[in-house]
Amino acid sequence: MSSKYEVLKHYFGYTSFREGQETLIDSILEGKDTFGIMPTGAGKSMCYQIPALMMEGITIVVSPLISLMKDQVGALNQAGVHAAYFNSSLTPGQYAKALMLAKQGRYKIIYVAPERLLLEGFIDFARSVDIAMVSVDEAHCVSQWGQDFRPSYLKIVEFVNQLPKRPVVSAFTATATHEVREDIIRVLQLEQPTVITTGFNRDNLFYTVKTPKDRFAEVEQYLEEHPGKSGVIYCLTRKTVEEVCDRLVRGGIAATRYHAGLTDEERRQNQDDFIYDVKPIMVATNAFGMGIDKSNVRFVIHYNMPKNIESYYQEAGRAGRDGEESECILLYGPQDVVTNQFFIENNRENEEMAGEMLEVVKERDRERLKKMTYYCITNECLREYVLRYFGEHGSNYCGKCSNCLTEYETMDVTDIAKAIIGCVDSCRQRYGMTVIADTVHGSKNAKLRQNNMIENEYYNSLESVSIPRIRQVINHLILEGYLLLTNEEYSILKLTEKSAAVAEGEEAVIMKLAKDKVREKKAKTKRTSKTDEVLGEAEEALFEQLRELRLAIAKEEHVPPYLIFSDKALKDMSARKPKDREEFLKVSGVGDVKADKYGERFLLKIKEYNNY
Ligand code: ADP
Ligand code: ZN
Repeated sequence: MSSKYEVLKHYFGYTSFREGQETLIDSILEGKDTFGIMPTGAGKSMCYQIPALMMEGITIVVSPLISLMKDQVGALNQAGVHAAYFNSSLTPGQYAKALMLAKQGRYKIIYVAPERLLLEGFIDFARSVDIAMVSVDEAHCVSQWGQDFRPSYLKIVEFVNQLPKRPVVSAFTATATHEVREDIIRVLQLEQPTVITTGFNRDNLFYTVKTPKDRFAEVEQYLEEHPGKSGVIYCLTRKTVEEVCDRLVRGGIAATRYHAGLTDEERRQNQDDFIYDVKPIMVATNAFGMGIDKSNVRFVIHYNMPKNIESYYQEAGRAGRDGEESECILLYGPQDVVTNQFFIENNRENEEMAGEMLEVVKERDRERLKKMTYYCITNECLREYVLRYFGEHGSNYCGKCSNCLTEYETMDVTDIAKAIIGCVDSCRQRYGMTVIADTVHGSKNAKLRQNNMIENEYYNSLESVSIPRIRQVINHLILEGYLLLTNEEYSILKLTEKSAAVAEGEEAVIMKLAKDKVREKKAKTKRTSKTDEVLGEAEEALFEQLRELRLAIAKEEHVPPYLIFSDKALKDMSARKPKDREEFLKVSGVGDVKADKYGERFLLKIKEYNNY
């Protein structure tokens, strides 16, 4: 196998490299330490897999999660590459056998869990063969600054140092912050590495922030409008996961759940159901997702605001790994700030941390939470906001986020603010947002009657202002410190030192308010992704048939459907309608091995379709 292009086509079925890939591959092939920082879905794996296939000797890939390894090795075997993994999911018998095969040179690429590296069996094996490269996946796990710090990652250097000949060391991560990058180079002792950072922009993701009154109704409506699509719904707490999942299931939606409170067994089962598209909707806490390489996730909805932009970017980024258009929707409510603050103040995640160190971390987390909160209420381009957070600059207008598609008007809302603050004051600061908004708007509901709010002097005082707008103003007042939302089971609105200035007319409140609804406008915007295939009706029908065939094969072979062909490959297939092997090989994502294995069945299906 000579060139990297041949390897790319033969095994993976692609004809061109993506941004950064070629430089990283060339650097490794030149024998240099190499560090790639690329967003999720950019195609990091190929950057070490292709040189691994071209170099003499074996490549060891250090990877933090069993699911991740399983997936990668599964994909490689599908593509005709001999690969294996060594982790705690293997029985001692399987482990011994795999090790024996490895010694015989059976595997070109070996994935290993970091805690195994220095175990006798493994290090002995590694010392007895020619190791061409050690590649560190999810390299941010070496950093104590990162959220996913894994002490066992610190063993990697020791492992490398014990090898008779120092191999090339390469590292990959999607984490963009400066401290973490520095840490990776330092801790892994990379020697004058080639460092490539590709842009963090994900072209195919559409970002939306909403502040719905009823989050569940919002989700329900979305699912109704996007039937059959696969997606993740992230919630802040286990309790919310349970509630949301239950309600969806009761509503007849094929959803499953994932959080740290479930048994290992159930978690594995639910994750598989999701990956195999048995249950295409996953409701989960942030415990779910690292290493889930499900490529056809069409949307990620955050039911609550996460704790910081890093988390958000990572979690939302699980949408659209296949490069197809996907949506990232964040449902924000001011209570989310309160919940996150509570998590920060009661942080027990790291037992070793105490005293001053703990205070520093808390302060940092508060700062990060603040930046996250601004994301939810800013009127700027959302994409630009995130890119700027990671030190990049965009154009300030992406045209593919809810803010870019919303028209705003700057308004003086002092009168609205006065009524709201007055109402909070006159009910002796006893109620939350809903009661206050309903009161000033003059809603007629039982709760207001029960609480005697109908007699409140501010009842109906903002009759002409819509509830969503009143809520927007309340959010703004909280954020600007004119009101406070308490941290209790039922969050209550309270006055602050700054409230009086507004109430007494000393201070004006000016804010930007949305003119339009996003949903209507979005339908009119054209799809812009270069790679996006827009299929006609006929092709769409063929695509569905090919999907069914893929699912049938996946069941026969007990592998996730996306390991056979990605949605994108099936779309390309539907558009090209190949007639023979040669044409089949032109489909993006079809390499020689897959053409041999599956070509006949897919070609037959396409032929049937054409004759019909
Ligand atoms: P990352 O590890 O950076 O999150 P992956 O390596 O899992 O991303 O790649 C994401 C997807 O992109 C995979 O489905 C992969 O097959 C695809 N991909 C990677 N490189 C290319 C390429 N050069 N052309 C087309 N698709 C690619
Ligand atoms: Zn934008």
